[in-house]
Amino acid sequence: MSDLESFRAEVRDWLEKNCPPEMRTPYDGQTQSYWGGRKRHEQDPIARGWCERMAERGWTAPTWPREYGGGGLSRAEARVLEQEMARIHARPPLASIGLMMLGPMLLETGTEEQKREHVPPIVKGEIKWCQGYSEPGAGSDLASLQTRAEDRGDHFIVNGQKIWTSGADTADMIFCLVRTDPEAPKHDGISFLLIDMDQPGVTTSPIRLISGSSPFCQTFFSDARAEKRDLIGTLNGGWTVAKRLLQFERQGIGNMGNRNPGANAPPPLPELAKRYCGTRDGRIADPLIRDRVARLEMQQQAIQKTMARSGDEAKAGQNVSAATSSSFKLIGTECNQAKFDLMTSILGAQSLGWEGDGFEAYELETTRQWLRSFANTIEGGTSEVQLNIIAKRVLGLPD
Ligand SMILES: Cc1cc2nc3c(=O)[nH]c(=O)nc-3n(C[C@H](O)[C@H](O)[C@H](O)COP(=O)(O)OP(=O)(O)OC[C@H]3O[C@@H](n4cnc5c(N)ncnc54)[C@H](O)[C@@H]3O)c2cc1C
Repeated sequence: MSDLESFRAEVRDWLEKNCPPEMRTPYDGQTQSYWGGRKRHEQDPIARGWCERMAERGWTAPTWPREYGGGGLSRAEARVLEQEMARIHARPPLASIGLMMLGPMLLETGTEEQKREHVPPIVKGEIKWCQGYSEPGAGSDLASLQTRAEDRGDHFIVNGQKIWTSGADTADMIFCLVRTDPEAPKHDGISFLLIDMDQPGVTTSPIRLISGSSPFCQTFFSDARAEKRDLIGTLNGGWTVAKRLLQFERQGIGNMGNRNPGANAPPPLPELAKRYCGTRDGRIADPLIRDRVARLEMQQQAIQKTMARSGDEAKAGQNVSAATSSSFKLIGTECNQAKFDLMTSILGAQSLGWEGDGFEAYELETTRQWLRSFANTIEGGTSEVQLNIIAKRVLGLPD
């Protein structure tokens, strides 16, 4: 038996013993992913237990170094873990901005003290992070941000406002871009700070969406305190750190369509189309739907292979460039939107449900994911912004 095969057997056995049956079931539209954080004891104890067991092995962050709580797995081993989790329809143990964005950046850029303080709580789901980049006057033109931090010796005092801060009302900490030198050219006066949300100087106000939910907040800083040891990178050197974190964010968002689809995922596209549109000679009966399915399948395959190649290049020491992460973000999110658009065409009226017995769980999930996919080409930088980066960095076109 090869090393990888015995690893697979071990993982299968461990998951069988440790993944509770409730964590192998579809989300019912009401249950949320488990986000951890200081208020985690108020969340579903079964989901919390599942996260804690996975975190003990470092498998919430399978490829991160063991010394910071990660699993220390190779990419091949991490793929095996993913496949074995998908096989039993295991829910991801932890949904976390810390895992997707801040942790990878800290592992690269943080000091030893910063890594030891902040990375293990991310792996264990003990601290829930949110991202304080956007402001009312600074979205695509992020470097125009106005939130200010003044140097007060051993700490900073922060004043200003952020917007579209996902999950801020339940987050424990925020990583934040602040202006520390108002006189410098706009990209050169920005610093990257970690700020505790649990203090009187930080308040949030949820933004209610048409669906009734409030995934976003406005976040206000009024003489909030940030510790000097929580400055990441150099003073006024935050723009470089911010861009690197955006690369992780963009790759993560671009890769959304390739994630473990979960227990209530619909069948693969060709099968779904055959089920709803019927077959002729074993093929999807509707030629227009058949053509769209074939095109999308080819595009998804191409993206997956290109991403895998880029992952191998990164492992071999070739840094993933901003242009690459922008390309993945652009093509991955456009493809994800096209997929859900096609799925709603295939499902017809069955894609218009919100709840009730007349719909399969995967039909309801498709409706929600279709609506959510509209935001994919905005969050983490819009498609137009990615096109601008590609035009400049890849094609060398003038401004
Ligand atoms: C689901 C979701 C979650 C988010 N979560 C967070 C979060 O947690 N933290 C956070 O800080 N932010 C968050 N954001 C904000 C997000 O980063 C911004 O919405 C995004 O960067 C765009 O900024 P804006 O909304 O101000 O749009 P604007 O910058 O005002 O853009 C409006 C339109 O103009 C176009 N445009 C702007 N400039 C150019 C240009 N130079 N060339 C061509 N076209 C241009 C844009 O493409 C867009 O179509 C989130 C957004 C969404 C949708």
